[in-house]
Amino acid sequence: MEMSEQPRSRRQTRAAILGHLLQSGGMFRPPLAKAVRLSEASLSRILFDLKAEGLIEEVRRPVPYVGGPSALVSLDGSVAVAAFELTAQRLSVGVGGLSGELHFVERLPLPKRPTVASVGRGFRDALELLQDWTRRRRIRLSQIGVSVPGLGRLSELGNPIIPCDTGLVRGMISETFADVPVEITNSVVAHTTFHRSRTEDYPFAGAHLFVFVGQGVAGTWVDGPVEADALQPVELGHMVFGDGGPRCRCGHHGCVEAYTSLPALADLIGVPEAELQDGAGWVNAIPIPSRVRQELRRRLFRLGLAIGNTLNVKPCPGVAVSGWPSLLAEEDRKAVVDGIDTSLLGGRKHAQVSVAFVPPSTGNDPNAALAFAAWCLACRGGMPAASVEAA
Ligand SMILES: [Zn+2]
Repeated sequence: MEMSEQPRSRRQTRAAILGHLLQSGGMFRPPLAKAVRLSEASLSRILFDLKAEGLIEEVRRPVPYVGGPSALVSLDGSVAVAAFELTAQRLSVGVGGLSGELHFVERLPLPKRPTVASVGRGFRDALELLQDWTRRRRIRLSQIGVSVPGLGRLSELGNPIIPCDTGLVRGMISETFADVPVEITNSVVAHTTFHRSRTEDYPFAGAHLFVFVGQGVAGTWVDGPVEADALQPVELGHMVFGDGGPRCRCGHHGCVEAYTSLPALADLIGVPEAELQDGAGWVNAIPIPSRVRQELRRRLFRLGLAIGNTLNVKPCPGVAVSGWPSLLAEEDRKAVVDGIDTSLLGGRKHAQVSVAFVPPSTGNDPNAALAFAAWCLACRGGMPAASVEAA
């Protein structure tokens, strides 16, 4: 008998189980039953189905508590998902497993000034490589995920970061892989799923705001169970701080993004943006004069103000800040925390908001998009897209 407060559909129960396995990497039956609020008998019946469908596997292991040995439940290593991840420099395509294994990856460079046409051609080429690779190995894909930076409300008028016709892309993918569900998302959502399921000791288990500072500045509200609406992108990067600031890609002046995005940082410290792309090396390698560092901290403070104001609109107990600010020394990062403290109603302590910095996952594309694809598969409970609509 189910112990949940609210009746859940079969799809929702399966999604909860797969979501917990995705985030934990594997669980013994008793704690899994507790986490998804099922009796062990109910869990057992569902696991039987999931195993028969090839979605999970179980290995008997000694357990660290009374009552063992038990079965360690994990996601089946043979399930394959594919993903496309668009970044400022390139389009990556890959195939991976549900637990983060990478089986295949190709990275296609984009022209310096990408257009809808050249990005479309990139997708066509990447799609051919994917089709070729999966055909030769007779691999059946269970889900395809696509990550596009800046995708959101403005996208109908043209993508604000990299020109990309997502309707065209969806059409091309569906033509080639007719039976495989396809989901397209904002890159901040893909990065959120990556960190939640692949970062060891990710700081938040419950509701929080994930902020990513990269090509743009964006956030994701993370809330509740593994459901399609549990991850909501939020465009906090376009909070305007007075007249006369630098011009933003949205057309306004003085947005927090125009001060703190990766292109703005490159401009401030006077190095090509590409040098700031991969890894944390630049933080120690590039000398920053104290005058520039002062300005850097002023900008980080503004980022903090934007985050604090976002939390004023929708209170939330935690903030994970990822992207380049998380690579800085604590004295510099403190400016972000101070900004949050300054704008948050009652201050950070009173509002009981904890702030954590999470190293960015940039440079390892398409891993974020693959994590998103795995998350989508969990979301629909591993069921075919058509039966999810009916469930
Ligand atoms: Zn803007």
